[in-house]
Amino acid sequence: MRVILASPRGFCAGVNMAIEALEIALESLPPPIYVYHEIVHNKYVVEAFRDRGVVFVDELEQVPEGAALLFSAHGVSPEIRRVARQRRLHAIDATCPLVTKVHLEAIKFARLGYTIFLIGHEGHDEVTGTIGEAPEAIVLIETPDDVDRVQVADETKLAYLTQTTLSVDDANRIIRRLRERFPQIASPPKEDICYATQNRQEAVALLCGEAQLTLVLGSQNSSNSQRLAELSRERGVPARLIDGLQDIRHEWFADVDVVLVTAGASAPEVVVQDVLDYLQRSFEAKIEVRSLREENVAFPLPKELRTG
Ligand code: SF4
Repeated sequence: MRVILASPRGFCAGVNMAIEALEIALESLPPPIYVYHEIVHNKYVVEAFRDRGVVFVDELEQVPEGAALLFSAHGVSPEIRRVARQRRLHAIDATCPLVTKVHLEAIKFARLGYTIFLIGHEGHDEVTGTIGEAPEAIVLIETPDDVDRVQVADETKLAYLTQTTLSVDDANRIIRRLRERFPQIASPPKEDICYATQNRQEAVALLCGEAQLTLVLGSQNSSNSQRLAELSRERGVPARLIDGLQDIRHEWFADVDVVLVTAGASAPEVVVQDVLDYLQRSFEAKIEVRSLREENVAFPLPKELRTG
């Protein structure tokens, strides 16, 4: 067996920052540390922190007054920040700066009186947070058909924004439809789909054609990981999205000589290495690293944790 190991893969700068922030909070603040929603969408990461006493909550009412609370990499709405202040929580904001950038764009367009089409997936933590910045101005668009159905009062004041972890191809299809129907629509100053999402998708797009099966390490609720598996399938290469070695079935590899391995932006490298070890042990796999781009992005820690 030959294994093509895609690079870049795995942790992005936003996930690295959020995880480091939680590590520092655990070491330096009185326990327990609370996190609003999953710190990143990855089962392995969340369970490891849960084992160390971190409490993940979906409602701020679950957090006792005065306790330390981290906002996850996906960001939160202003209403959540307000409630956190009201409950006198020690809030630490680990929102990825690339998500914050989309929030700021939403605020700017809403202040100018624009209707904003937010291209994204309903119910995703990031989308919920972004909509919360200007709920009266934002309309969620999930498919090209949504574009045909939408009604607007003033076609001269329209803008679109996107979730950071979308499929680049799907987003472009929707944007094309928006531009056809509303030629004057304003776009974000700089693309919203983040560098990490784009680079991981680019690597799968370029490499999956050489493989008969793509393994994506990542959780089912990780948007960017789901998009990697979809992308491979759209190109005719079956794909499996797995949290780790425990999900693998030996029979998947019958008649498979070449496997592409990648990982979503919230999947740790340790789960990738477990899978590679298994493929080497079971099928004498030769690993071939294919690096398509260098990533040198790093984000500062939340200001509440910076020293000096
Ligand atoms: S996937 Fe992109 S937007 Fe999300 S945390 Fe990583 S860098 Fe930030």
